Amino acid sequence: MKFVDHHCHLDFPQLAEDRAGVLARAREAGVGVLVTISTRIRRFPEILGIAEEHANVYCSVGTHPHNAHEELDIPLEEIVRLSEHPKVVAIGEAGARLLLQALDPRSSGGRVSPPYRRCAPDRSSAGDSHA
Ligand SMILES: [Zn+2]
Repeated sequence: MKFVDHHCHLDFPQLAEDRAGVLARAREAGVGVLVTISTRIRRFPEILGIAEEHANVYCSVGTHPHNAHEELDIPLEEIVRLSEHPKVVAIGEAGARLLLQALDPRSSGGRVSPPYRRCAPDRSSAGDSHA
């Protein structure tokens, strides 16, 4: 049986230092496909680069709710344009507004989620919510 890790962060420094080892251990554990999740659209080129480098790695495009205040100027059309790349399989991480705001008042998931909800139905890709 093959598994899909649909939410990992292969760009995070803790994993990036040993990315080849992480991917090898995932393969040994039966993980056939991984989706590395974008937390900042401005760092999307790095995420996409990881996905393009490995045939079994795909990615999302989006902004984590904790970082939403840094990227409110990015137009929805840009997110949609970036999501059209064949290695992009989801939009997010978008945020579970009420849960995040309850857990962390810094969260601004509510400001980010509505645009994502508007563009997701136009795409065949999934939304990836931080919950
Ligand atoms: Zn995440």
